Amino acid sequence: MRQVGRFVVVTVVAASLFAAGAWWRGVTWSDVRHWGTPRNAIEANGETIRIPLAQGEEQRLLPEVTVSTVGSYDLLFREGGPDGGPVRYDPCVPLAYVISPQDMPEGFEETVHAAVASVSQATGLEFAYEGFTDEPARFDRALVQPRYGDRFAPIVIGFQAEADNPDLAGTVTGLGGSSAVPGAYGDAQYLRAGVVIIDWEDVARIREDGEGEELAQAVVAHELGHVVGLAHVGDTHELMHESNLRLIDWGPGDLAGLALAGAGGCEPR
Ligand SMILES: [Zn+2]
Repeated sequence: MRQVGRFVVVTVVAASLFAAGAWWRGVTWSDVRHWGTPRNAIEANGETIRIPLAQGEEQRLLPEVTVSTVGSYDLLFREGGPDGGPVRYDPCVPLAYVISPQDMPEGFEETVHAAVASVSQATGLEFAYEGFTDEPARFDRALVQPRYGDRFAPIVIGFQAEADNPDLAGTVTGLGGSSAVPGAYGDAQYLRAGVVIIDWEDVARIREDGEGEELAQAVVAHELGHVVGLAHVGDTHELMHESNLRLIDWGPGDLAGLALAGAGGCEPR
């Protein structure tokens, strides 16, 4: 249940609109709207990659969630987003997710989808399943990859054992987080390219228990809570407590935090 709030962007490069020739033929409406504003870029593997443009209409896909519950929650990135507020996912494009199926426990795909559905419902963020990937789930993944096209890599959910990943040692059942990365234009950051790694050995043990399937789903939900920007809290009645003491459902603070995590504005198109 470790939280991995990552800030991966090492360098933000102001790539001039006129610097590269190859893309010139592909100038978009968005580029025209932002004419004269340098397009942000990131350095990855020694290459400069322009930040992919936000896709789709500039409107929410699902309504914001209103909550009346009160409790503890915390955010991994409290500032750096639009208007200096929290860094969140763009709620105006589906949060694509893929499963890296190696070592996935039998029948666990449905558990993953159920956890995603509960996060979607509590955040008002739409998720879109894109199937299996051959990309292993790693936190040092490239944020933009040819296999996924000219966009940020989807959220990847994968399975490892303690022997594969020392971060899963002991009672750690999973890891989750996203990268905070600037939009194509301007300074505001958005969450991108989330990663969830589940300790399949721990999950196999958990599933042997009476309520094991629900608890295993809660493990995935907790890690997805990190992906959408929630940090741990000290209150043991919340699922975002660092070790789950047999909770199955979101607590009152979790719900308030998830609603906030999903309430961001659209990334400008
Ligand atoms: Zn955690």
